Amino acid sequence: MEFRDLKRQYQKLKPQMDAAVAEVLERGSFIGGEPVRLLEKKLADYVNVKHCIACANGTDALTLALKTWEIGPEDAVFVPDFTFFSTAECPAAEGAHVVFVDICKDTFNLDPSKLEEAVRLVQEEGRYRPRVVIAVDLFGQCAEYSEIRRICTENDLLLLEDGAQGFGGCIGQKKACSFGDISITSFFPAKPLGCCGDGGAVFTDRDDWAERIRSLAVHGKGTDKYDNVRIGMNSRLDTLQAAILQVKLEAFVSDELRKVNQAADWYKEELDGSSLECPVIKDDFYSSWAQYTVKLPPEVDRERIRKKLNERDIPSNVYYVKPLHFQNAFREMTDHWGDREFCPVTVEICSTVLSLPIHPYMERSEVRTVAIALRESM
Ligand SMILES: *Cc1c(COP(=O)(O)O)cnc(C)c1O
Repeated sequence: MEFRDLKRQYQKLKPQMDAAVAEVLERGSFIGGEPVRLLEKKLADYVNVKHCIACANGTDALTLALKTWEIGPEDAVFVPDFTFFSTAECPAAEGAHVVFVDICKDTFNLDPSKLEEAVRLVQEEGRYRPRVVIAVDLFGQCAEYSEIRRICTENDLLLLEDGAQGFGGCIGQKKACSFGDISITSFFPAKPLGCCGDGGAVFTDRDDWAERIRSLAVHGKGTDKYDNVRIGMNSRLDTLQAAILQVKLEAFVSDELRKVNQAADWYKEELDGSSLECPVIKDDFYSSWAQYTVKLPPEVDRERIRKKLNERDIPSNVYYVKPLHFQNAFREMTDHWGDREFCPVTVEICSTVLSLPIHPYMERSEVRTVAIALRESM
């Protein structure tokens, strides 16, 4: 069994994907061009945000947002303690002071009350200026944006939505990647909408920021690439990936999003009554299921379970093994390095979560196989 079966997806979309790739190869133009422009338009329309700027990957997308706001050493940036490394790596790389914030036990997303507390602490301390909150749509479910937005407004903070795992999700009618002042996503192959390599995108309603992001992504260009008005980077989505993504976006919207939600529903049915906790999707929220992450009872040995699953050819992963404030890279940057009392929800959850195979092409019988194997291994 595959954790995320991209081969099955390719078999389904092969005629369109092959044709899209062949067309780019025939044209012989591999950077920019119509496929990239058209994809940006389609993505912006889908998310319902004015501007979409494609770039090389999700990490660059975060960096482009932070550079647009000129985030630097005086600034505090608030990030969840439980997320992929990039979310905190990018502000740290800009020299900002990164503040780790604990998460909600049920959704794994940033806890608004802990965020408010963290902002207050930084304000009282007065060493850094609170500037940005990076909220993550973890495992496919949007963060708690109504509360997070209120906190941002009250404290004059910019909101950056890290929708690398969230693309396709929504709260009510409002889509993921439309909640931030700037929002980003990633097209890494295993994300909800993935390409066949690396890719990413930045979204914003603001004209001036969109222009600055485009400039920063092309060496800080002014009127053209050889007129440079700021220090930027080289971050492009290549033409082949854009052509592939147009095919994949259509399948994602018309079919895959519904099917991956079906697979999640099957898991819930098949795991009903077991001692593990299935993911909680809040009322009015819709997930794009980047991961299907269950919580094991604290007393069970996770590695033993993973080994037993593996013996039956069932892959599993642990997202994430440790809190960001345990990572060696942040040793010098936080007063709480390795502190088990700090962000206690994250500390606890890191030892009980287990992510199971999920993707739009999974069949009910496969979901059942995983569920039975899990029950029998507990
Ligand atoms: C994957 C991911 C990123 C980074 O995306 P890349 O395209 O791999 O650079 C950032 N944030 C989160 C939450 C992610 O899951």
